[in-house]
Amino acid sequence: MRILIAEDDAVSRRMLQAQLERWGHEVIVTSDGAQALSALSCPDSPRLAILDWIMPGLDGLGVTKRVREMPDRPLTYILLLTSKDQKEDIVSALDSGADDYLVKPYDAEELRSRIGAGLRILGLQEQLERLNQQLAEQARTDYLTQLPNRRAVLEHLASELGRCARVGTPLLVMMVDIDYFKRINDTHGHAAGDSVLTEVARRLTTHVRLYDAVGRMGGEEFLIVVPDIALEQAAATADRIRQTLSDTPIPLDGTELHITASIGVAWAHPDDSGAFIADLLIRTADAQLYQAKTSGRNRVCVTQV
Ligand code: GH3
Ligand code: MG
Ligand code: MG
Ligand code: MG
Repeated sequence: MRILIAEDDAVSRRMLQAQLERWGHEVIVTSDGAQALSALSCPDSPRLAILDWIMPGLDGLGVTKRVREMPDRPLTYILLLTSKDQKEDIVSALDSGADDYLVKPYDAEELRSRIGAGLRILGLQEQLERLNQQLAEQARTDYLTQLPNRRAVLEHLASELGRCARVGTPLLVMMVDIDYFKRINDTHGHAAGDSVLTEVARRLTTHVRLYDAVGRMGGEEFLIVVPDIALEQAAATADRIRQTLSDTPIPLDGTELHITASIGVAWAHPDDSGAFIADLLIRTADAQLYQAKTSGRNRVCVTQV
């Protein structure tokens, strides 16, 4: 474990450092509050700090208060070392955000076990952060296809529109909808339908460029966001996607399933009103998709917004 120590007294500092290193910790040594605060402000700062309370300039309690005021920081476990042993002192240290304290001169075994208590808290904290991250990822991922879900792909579109507006490049969205998908479910069962969706997702993902994004909007409908593309290339690009679905049948339980899809494309040169345009692009691509469906399916319809 990386542990930061702040201690203005050179002898105590060296003793504490040696002790912690004997227990196998990596020690970041500082000799005043300002140094400690700066080390604890770094993105990869140590998660456990042992701060002497009384130091010239910014003292240990001051560092603690400042660390607690930093927004969006992972937990830093702070153990204050102090010669102050009055109940009021201890109460004020804990109220100011210290997690624990140890009265000087401290007993080495007590220090070791208090560090152990801190490590347990930090372990739980890390577990919580990891789970939160997993949940956040799950909330943005479609369970069946593992593609970004509707929310995630729409967020991506909004940020791409912002970027394209800044750099002045056009962008298109494709709404891809599998034709007569309900028949696949009805004829071969829901599980077969699921396999088709997974295979379609795989094909779409492998056929787009690195900076394009594919998401599942819901059901058998996928959204593809393609930045930096000229209007003249829009139809051909969408048609290649259409062909990757129609040209190769999907193997299923010893047979082959022929599928097709209809694609509605909306192309735009975004201005500053990113949010409005995102909505308009989606609605336009939807209208083009409807057009493709009513004019016979297995085709692409493109328009400029
Ligand atoms: P169209 O050519 O007009 O698009 O007809 P369609 O049958 O593809 O479209 P429709 O909207 O009538 O049916 C879509 C079907 O997709 C209905 C729904 O039960 C099915 N579906 C939606 N989500 C899933 C899923 O996750 N798995 C499976 N297997 N089916 C799904
Ligand atoms: Mg001191
Ligand atoms: Mg459909
Ligand atoms: Mg549909």
